[in-house]
Amino acid sequence: MWTDTSFWDDIWVGNLCFKNRFKRLYRLENNKNINIRDKVAEFAGNGLGSWAYNPLGRTGAELEELVGLVRPVILSVDQRDEWKWVLDAKGVFTVKRCSTLIDNATLVRSPNPLESLRNSLVPKKVEVFIWRARLGRIPVRVELDKRGIDLNSARCPICDNDIETVEHILFSCQVAKDIWSKVLRWWGYNSSIFGFSDIFCGTFGNLAYDNKKAFWQAVCWIVCYILWKSRNAKVFKNKIETTSSLLNEIQSLSFEWISRRNKRNKIDWLHWFSCPSSTC
Ligand SMILES: [Zn+2]
Repeated sequence: MWTDTSFWDDIWVGNLCFKNRFKRLYRLENNKNINIRDKVAEFAGNGLGSWAYNPLGRTGAELEELVGLVRPVILSVDQRDEWKWVLDAKGVFTVKRCSTLIDNATLVRSPNPLESLRNSLVPKKVEVFIWRARLGRIPVRVELDKRGIDLNSARCPICDNDIETVEHILFSCQVAKDIWSKVLRWWGYNSSIFGFSDIFCGTFGNLAYDNKKAFWQAVCWIVCYILWKSRNAKVFKNKIETTSSLLNEIQSLSFEWISRRNKRNKIDWLHWFSCPSSTC
């Protein structure tokens, strides 16, 4: 790459060139054909580039990220640029090292062997959903935005009070909080659920891995699954479900799935509905 090639077209982050990675900023660029040398010079010292108007809000956030990438760059005058892999001390790329880094960043490392992502009381689709959600791989708006998909808003489609992240939609959105408190009351637990850690290694995670924990874990996963389904109903069908109807769905679906899969003892619907922890 030479310093007189295009700043916006010839520098890539992952599989996106700068033009696509920083779409909002690019729209404000005064000189869309500017080369690398001139653009880097604009960022020298405390410079912030040259824009049609002052980048604010999400465009301002893009600018901050771009400055972080460009300002440390020192261009050599008489030498061809070369690639250095910054994730390795020697700057040398190897597939083995890359694969280890990807594994470390993406695989769920379980500190506790009992903290499994398998639970035979729920259908496979629920297990897969939980696995993807824990890795941040369900299409909440913030994840779509990170991948360069232009959305009108990254805010929660249910409450519009916060950015839509996985943790928000499943735990801290007002609807999710109401559902969790109803489910905890249904099970007779005097506690709170704030995130995945509370399901996997919090107070409830410390329960011995017996029948009761397996049942409770299955219910928690079903709660997450139903919350996500209801979020999609709002986004794609503009359908709003009440917390009581969501709780009903959680109670009946968990009964149907768990009683069908549980081989040890027969579960009675009335017991399940009124005092589920005594049926485990
Ligand atoms: Zn919300």
